Amino acid sequence: MPVVRQLLAANEVYAEGHEPQRVPGAWPTRRLAVITCMDARIDVFAVLGLHLGEAHVLRNAGGRVTDDILRSLALSTHVLGTDTVVLMQHTKCGLAGVTDAQLHDITGAEVHFLPIDDHGDALGEDVDLIASTPYLAPIRRIVGLVYDIESGHAECLIDWRRESQP
Ligand SMILES: [Zn+2]
Repeated sequence: MPVVRQLLAANEVYAEGHEPQRVPGAWPTRRLAVITCMDARIDVFAVLGLHLGEAHVLRNAGGRVTDDILRSLALSTHVLGTDTVVLMQHTKCGLAGVTDAQLHDITGAEVHFLPIDDHGDALGEDVDLIASTPYLAPIRRIVGLVYDIESGHAECLIDWRRESQP
């Protein structure tokens, strides 16, 4: 069966048992946004013990902080009450150990792919970017994790807290 038909058939089954009241509202109950890679091997909810309704999950290639992540975080914080951000990169990422030039050649896309040389450095850059963005001042804590695809463990490399204003 073609994939789209499979999806729509699965949705028919899902809709039969759908309970709209299961999640009380649009506000993530853990006041949390998780940014991670689009890698199909990462089950974000399972890895971090999350349930439906508890967090915003934003995914892209590499789990890097892009303009669109900042746009989403602006709404996540100011409209939907989040104050904690988890950045989760992972081992064996397709963006690790490659260069922009290589990715330009492969894709033909003249965009900045934000490749990852070192997880600590890349997470540091992304934490700094969020922490220094004035409109993201509601964010009080940002952690940078590396999830190990093989072992399932997520290691915390960065744990940043905003100093409270006197
Ligand atoms: Zn990845």
